[in-house]
Amino acid sequence: MRVTGLPPYDPNNVFAKILRAEIPCRKAGENDHALAFHDINPQTPVHVLVIPKGAYVSVADFSATATEAEIAGFWRLVGQVARELGLEGGGYRILSNMGEDGGQEVPHFHVHIFGGRRVGRMVP
Ligand code: IMP
Repeated sequence: MRVTGLPPYDPNNVFAKILRAEIPCRKAGENDHALAFHDINPQTPVHVLVIPKGAYVSVADFSATATEAEIAGFWRLVGQVARELGLEGGGYRILSNMGEDGGQEVPHFHVHIFGGRRVGRMVP
């Protein structure tokens, strides 16, 4: 079921290709439901992306249609990766872009984890 006005899921988006191991990634963590890998164009010393393994375009899509195990697995991996990369002490930011207005480039739901330096205040 699609619940958003975003385009339908494109199985050839770059993150789908990473999930199918058609293109490589520098893995930061993984569980049954989610994969974490370093961003190819890091904006901070630590810049990791966490993606669900299922085909979801947006958080609305994910939160409405993923199973509770998938949702739990995804958020557990976000926290685990932040902890394992040593970001808990200094702090970090998580951010997710959605659709055109949100500046989403890759149409597979993902969360960015930014850390390793002080980031500026969040303003749109
Ligand atoms: P978005 O604007 O939130 O969709 O961000 C997409 C992110 O994916 C950007 O920060 C890109 O640098 C990153 N990205 C695109 N292709 C790859 C890749 O092949 N490996 C890792 N990160 C990627």
